[in-house]
Amino acid sequence: MWVKDSIINLGFRSAYYTGFNSNLLLGKGALLCKIVLNYDEKIQSSDVGYADSFKKSWFANSEGAYIEEETPDVNMAVAGIARDGDLVQTNRRIGGGADGFQSVENFHKDAEAAAKRAVELLSAPPVQGGTYSVVADHFVSGLFTHEAFGHLSEADFVDENPKMRELMVIGKRFGVDNLNIIDDGAMPGKLGTHKFDYEGTPTRENYLIKDGHLVGRLHSRESAAKMSEEPTGNARAVEFQHPPLVRMTNTYLDKGPDKFEDMFKDIELGVYAVGFKGGQTAMEMFTFSVDYGYMIRNGEIAELVRDVVLTGNVFETMMNIDMIGDEVSWWPNGPGGCGKGGQMPLRVGLGGPPIRIQNCVVGGQQ
Ligand SMILES: [Zn+2]
Repeated sequence: MWVKDSIINLGFRSAYYTGFNSNLLLGKGALLCKIVLNYDEKIQSSDVGYADSFKKSWFANSEGAYIEEETPDVNMAVAGIARDGDLVQTNRRIGGGADGFQSVENFHKDAEAAAKRAVELLSAPPVQGGTYSVVADHFVSGLFTHEAFGHLSEADFVDENPKMRELMVIGKRFGVDNLNIIDDGAMPGKLGTHKFDYEGTPTRENYLIKDGHLVGRLHSRESAAKMSEEPTGNARAVEFQHPPLVRMTNTYLDKGPDKFEDMFKDIELGVYAVGFKGGQTAMEMFTFSVDYGYMIRNGEIAELVRDVVLTGNVFETMMNIDMIGDEVSWWPNGPGGCGKGGQMPLRVGLGGPPIRIQNCVVGGQQ
């Protein structure tokens, strides 16, 4: 029998904003831990994290712009950690928003769901490594769009890398006609939304890929001047003491024509990849660990599998996206954010519909 334990992390930057005191929050954290720990005897520990902040910024420039902005942020994460002998499985749920404490108030169901999934994964087999038709949910498509493609669209990166300048040619085909990728800092109510960027440029909708072709990239004033293109409202800094860098805002793969259930129909053997755990990118190569997966057998979602890792070349993978779902979902708020040039975490919106990728390399048990 393992001794059960719990971790509760509380991060406050603004008691003023939530109006909550630490004792109340500790009580809530303890309750969530209890829900996880009591779920099953295989649960070994729980981990609950909460953070809030309220940021006010002022911007003025010599062109006469004067901008005041307030950014509230509340987020929570709860994880269940289950153990059977040497096998440990974790499942984590995140949530939150800019609208107040109510965005994390009803986390009880998430706590139970995290515990349940962690326990279920103990008896799920690891996926057999191989090349499959993969259906990926919105967590995976949103992350792929940001991590694998979005960073390559940052103009400072393109400008500094001769190889990327050769690859990221405006007008070049990157995928099927239905493939559209957009960064939009002006979209209301998302994590990366601002009226102006940190250089006073108004944010706007910027198409990166339109109808399968590369049509744009993200700019600060500096990168735009260097490449003789227009600033796009993407100069952002984590705090006032940092220089603004070319950063994403709300980046998403736009909806396509396909019904989610139709994506499975003609797959004899495939993998349905769900949720996101961790990942790495190096230039155009990526490796993403997803939360868990299901095998797809003869057009149907079949058994739960663990240790699903997707890997490949971002450009080849984009060309292999052959179906795009008809509804975009966004990642919920949560701890962390995007990092670049020593500045992190930056709040960004990640979104996408479910997508189908042909010939996708899935790592797992060989
Ligand atoms: Zn990032």
